[in-house]
Amino acid sequence: MKHGPSTAQRHLILVGGGHSHVQVLRRFMMEPPGGLRITLVVDTPIAIYSGMVPGYVAGEYAARELEIDVVPLARRAGAEVVLSAATGIDAAARQIHVVGRPPLAYDLASVDIGSTVLGLDLPGVRARAIPTRPISHLVRRVEGLVDDACALGRAPRVLVVGGGAGGVELAFTLDWRLRRADLEPEVELLHAGETLLAGFPPGLAARAARHFARRGIAVRGGARVAAATDDGVLLEDGSEVRGDFLVWVAGATSHGILRASGLPTDDRGFVLTRSTLQVEGYDDLFAVGDCATLEDYPRTPKAGVYAVRQGPYLTANLLAAAAGRPLSRYKPQGDFLTLLNMGGGTALGAKWGASFEGRWAMRLKDRIDRKFMTLFQVLDEAGAELGGFASMAPMAGADTMICGGCAAKLAQEPLARALARLEPAAAEDPEVVFGVEAAEDVAAHLVAEGAVDVSSVELFRFFSDDPFLVGRVAAVNAASDVLAKGVRPRYAQALVAVPDGLDDAAREELLFQALAGARAAFDPLGVRLLGGHTTTAPAPLIGFHVEGTGARSLLLAKAGARPGDALVLTKPLGTGVLLYADRKGRARGPWLAAAHEAMTVTNAAAARAALELGASAATDVTGFGLAGHLADLLHAAGCGGVVELAALPPLPGALELLARGERSTFHPENRKALRGLALASGAAGPRLELLFDPQTSGGLLVALPESRAAELAARVTAETGLAAARIGSVSEPSGDAAFAVRA
Ligand SMILES: Cc1cc2nc3c(=O)[nH]c(=O)nc-3n(C[C@H](O)[C@H](O)[C@H](O)COP(=O)(O)OP(=O)(O)OC[C@H]3O[C@@H](n4cnc5c(N)ncnc54)[C@H](O)[C@@H]3O)c2cc1C
Repeated sequence: MKHGPSTAQRHLILVGGGHSHVQVLRRFMMEPPGGLRITLVVDTPIAIYSGMVPGYVAGEYAARELEIDVVPLARRAGAEVVLSAATGIDAAARQIHVVGRPPLAYDLASVDIGSTVLGLDLPGVRARAIPTRPISHLVRRVEGLVDDACALGRAPRVLVVGGGAGGVELAFTLDWRLRRADLEPEVELLHAGETLLAGFPPGLAARAARHFARRGIAVRGGARVAAATDDGVLLEDGSEVRGDFLVWVAGATSHGILRASGLPTDDRGFVLTRSTLQVEGYDDLFAVGDCATLEDYPRTPKAGVYAVRQGPYLTANLLAAAAGRPLSRYKPQGDFLTLLNMGGGTALGAKWGASFEGRWAMRLKDRIDRKFMTLFQVLDEAGAELGGFASMAPMAGADTMICGGCAAKLAQEPLARALARLEPAAAEDPEVVFGVEAAEDVAAHLVAEGAVDVSSVELFRFFSDDPFLVGRVAAVNAASDVLAKGVRPRYAQALVAVPDGLDDAAREELLFQALAGARAAFDPLGVRLLGGHTTTAPAPLIGFHVEGTGARSLLLAKAGARPGDALVLTKPLGTGVLLYADRKGRARGPWLAAAHEAMTVTNAAAARAALELGASAATDVTGFGLAGHLADLLHAAGCGGVVELAALPPLPGALELLARGERSTFHPENRKALRGLALASGAAGPRLELLFDPQTSGGLLVALPESRAAELAARVTAETGLAAARIGSVSEPSGDAAFAVRA
């Protein structure tokens, strides 16, 4: 975690992870830009490289080969990542609007969000067609199309709508893929124009037509689709074309947010830019790739090759704009190498007006595409660095980094020793229900006959430079202590430390974003944020005092656990190692997205279900990891217990990272608990390490009758979408071991 923005830093927001932005990130990774704080706003962590999509459709590439995970790339460029879609750009106020959070203020911004497909709003198209945008949806649905085609029991009829390069490639490669599945598909390409591949050299179109004829792929020109129907499509001339599957590649159109944002656009809704790539009328806003139209070159095709070429210009101009230097002008190339995959290892191509074809053309395409991908694919599926990234120097500061969130805390032993050194209170207070000696997650005192006020204070170091996310997670985490006692939290007060070096505007923004994040968690829980206290510190901190009132008789004290109870954990484990790896650019984007999701889900549904199903004890699992918090609960109850490693629910990527030796900085402290555990043979490896991983905003650990355990886990999973599981049981104490661990 950096110490937040400094006064000298300007905030650059990159919206979208398109072809130009991945180049900006790579360049910033190699040469960190001084004076810029960078945030990448992206709707999904995985950007698909469209050039290899036809090869994937043909069955020549695995999905991961076309994926660029922008998260590790961004992290290595020192960028914060906001995994949410942008919904608008207020260029006058210099703000990016983002789903589910307040707008983000920028000094400089760049938009590279690509395009969508024309014609999706025609009747029936969204419901029945497989659109090629977002490309990730196309990739997800191709396998289903092949399976469904195989299940038909007859020759599948596939309609491909669109006569541009994408449509031609998909008609060829779908035909090839279905033939490889021993089917005899009838593929038909429908296009509205008079000629196929308009805008490309005529020789290329002639070659495509020849190969279509040879392979029995029908081509119908002048065919304007009016609607998609259950049986295929209805054309504007009233005729019907039958098809079992409909693939929609009908040309590029703009995402609505650009025009809706009031930006200057062309008649198709693409934002107008100068040749410096700045949006017309706004010196601090850039736009590139498909989403932009250059005023001086309005007929530049919407093709990835242009977005790729713009990358270095954009990088240079962003740096120049930040430094107040003159900007350079981009002139689109007059011609580019076109290579169209026909499936089966052959390609058609064109350059400088000439066309060609052959296996060598496909080999060339494969080589170009793979070379491009090696520049941006940082991690493999298990989180290991790929290619050149393995030999690069570690991220600046990564080795000295200390984890934030609940992983930044005082170890159990010094805490216990410090508390033991305190003089006992002068006199007993009969109204104290849980005091310092209670070893509970909360404080509790009587407020009326049978009623207790239950409260807790949490404070942690920022685990990310995204204050909204940190504020939200801190609020969920703080409410968990009270929820774990079976009490509804009602009121909260905030404690926030802003970094010493910030100016007033930056302090205000950080505080606003963090408290807005807290409200996003507290409001749906019915917790009212009443006030709080701020201070300054070398690194930002946030925490909350949360309280609620409940019936004393219903409190889920840790001591209530009984031998024979089952133990249920209501969230998957692994946030510690995932947040740690993310700070080093070693966590895959989808893993990080899952960790963020788990940390921001409150434990309210779990607490409610636990109470209804007769829980006898509960605690929330945070910085001391499952091992530490379970040992506490069992110790308070005077019981032993058993944990089944195989039953532990891991977050995606947690086991892979632990297996690679990644550890949160607090992990070794938690691992000291290993000395007090009885390990069965085979209880080892990453699943054992999961026990010691410090959790930020973890789940509840609930002891309840065995007969209700499965129902609790199922209900929590159904309500939260998170993997809850029965992970073991409470037993009579056995020797010195806090609990036993089975493989
Ligand atoms: C099947 C097919 C094959 C193609 N083959 C080729 C080819 O071989 N060569 C070629 O030059 N062109 C090809 N194209 C065209 C090419 O895909 C596009 O021109 C290219 O992807 C545009 O790149 P881009 O950088 O503008 O945006 P994209 O590559 O589309 O990237 C957009 C990024 O923005 C993100 N995003 C979108 N909306 C939001 C939002 N609201 N908030 C935040 N993030 C958002 C996306 O997740 C993504 O990260 C093909 C197209 C198709 C459909």
